Amino acid sequence: MACSTEAGPVALVIERHSVLTCPACGHRSQEEMPEDSCLFFHECAGCGARLRPLPGDCCVFCSWGTVPCPPKQGIRETA
Ligand SMILES: [Zn+2]
Repeated sequence: MACSTEAGPVALVIERHSVLTCPACGHRSQEEMPEDSCLFFHECAGCGARLRPLPGDCCVFCSWGTVPCPPKQGIRETA
């Protein structure tokens, strides 16, 4: 009897790239996120505005990106 189960380590798939959308001019730029830290400021390449996280968000990716920062991705929140 051949019974093979894949018992590899469960890897958490984390998206490392997020597209930031500038709230001032709408410019979009894809940025690579550091895996274990947050980016608090991001300067828009379109208009030069300095993006900051919204109140309650830990970094610009959570507020303006298409994907929240890696630390947030690893946390399962209950609404
Ligand atoms: Zn801008």
